Amino acid sequence: MSSLLDFDRQHLWHPYTSMQNPLPVYEVESAHGVRLRLADGRELIDGMSSWWAAIHGYNHPILNEAAEKQLHKMAHVMFGGITHEPAVSLGRRLIDLTPAPLERLFLCDSGSVSVEVAIKMALQYQQARGEVGRTKLLTIRGGYHGDTFGAMAVCDPVNGMHHMFQGVLVQHIFAPLVDCRFEDPWRDECLDAFRELIATHRHDIAAVIMEPIVQGAGGMRFYHPHFLAGVRELCDQHDVLLILDEIATGFGRSGELFGCDHAGIAPDIMCQGKALTGGYMTLGATLATAEIADVISAADPGLFMHGPTFMGNPLACAVACASVDLLLQMDWRDKVKGIEQILVEELEAARSNSLVADVRVLGAIGVVETKEALDVAVIQEKFVERGVWIRPFGRLVYIMPPYIITADDLRYLAQTLVAVLRES
Ligand SMILES: *Cc1c(COP(=O)(O)O)cnc(C)c1O
Repeated sequence: MSSLLDFDRQHLWHPYTSMQNPLPVYEVESAHGVRLRLADGRELIDGMSSWWAAIHGYNHPILNEAAEKQLHKMAHVMFGGITHEPAVSLGRRLIDLTPAPLERLFLCDSGSVSVEVAIKMALQYQQARGEVGRTKLLTIRGGYHGDTFGAMAVCDPVNGMHHMFQGVLVQHIFAPLVDCRFEDPWRDECLDAFRELIATHRHDIAAVIMEPIVQGAGGMRFYHPHFLAGVRELCDQHDVLLILDEIATGFGRSGELFGCDHAGIAPDIMCQGKALTGGYMTLGATLATAEIADVISAADPGLFMHGPTFMGNPLACAVACASVDLLLQMDWRDKVKGIEQILVEELEAARSNSLVADVRVLGAIGVVETKEALDVAVIQEKFVERGVWIRPFGRLVYIMPPYIITADDLRYLAQTLVAVLRES
């Protein structure tokens, strides 16, 4: 083993891993387009977009240029008492791109932090209105909102870390999994449980928080747009805020620019992250209505109580502007449709595999769910041997490639997924 891998194994924690028995890791030396180049010279076609983020692929000349240009001006400067062009330009773009009521923007460090900020906004808003009893959040099972404490408390209570942090996590209210898939005919009973919960707890709930249409790390499920539209109505009816976590769905991944566009609704607060910088840097954004910002600002202490050190980081904002422009200039809708088409065609073959429980595709997301959990280390090595980067978790093997992937590369990726599962 190289000394690099040896040091890594002994000293570096990776996401959700043991330090005593870590899974193998692969050293990536560089990445270009949709290919990761390993230190041993092998190249892998990327099926993960580095967790939803690298929508334009790696080492993109335009994103590189945006970073370099900004680097020569300043990498960072505090946002307290100071503003700068990259933050303002990004603000213009995000407010323009998102549904009309979202007009106020808080720039923060990551997806999880943007969820913390959203929760805090909702709580401060209710407090400012004198609704001091509204301290709970209502969400649906199967969600994932991040790894920080506020976010963890609204992740799926079984998949998530509720058990481990029992007594520390705030107890929120969970509606059952949505029992109506994206492509199924809509049945109004699917809203019944949610409808009942929000009515019962209407005086305790500050906000509903959920991922729109696509539930990501909590199970990779796609639910019906009418459910989301119904939730919007119920929130209005009970005077509850709606927070939509668009961290995974944002910027075209599900076939619409934002998940909420499938339902034609707007949230009161929207969280963004992941693809916001095209996967170059960590950056989060929390957008809110003018009303929320006004109510918070009008009440004691007259401030929104949050302000990270790296708020509005100019390098990240500059790259985010370039990434948004790049997205809007490409035919992203056609691109994502094309990816969806190929994923539907190629992943269909996995259905006949007796290990497979379900196959589902939406936009540039293809999911194969197995009946039993897979041995990640074994299957990962098989994928790498065949030149693809696919990282399963639990019973889910999924691909969500950069939008720039060619049809040939994508077919190879999907066919390899199907072939490796067949041999497992
Ligand atoms: C990844 C993710 C988060 C957390 O974002 P981080 O940048 O990892 O903190 C929150 N919500 C959703 C829907 C996500 O997919």
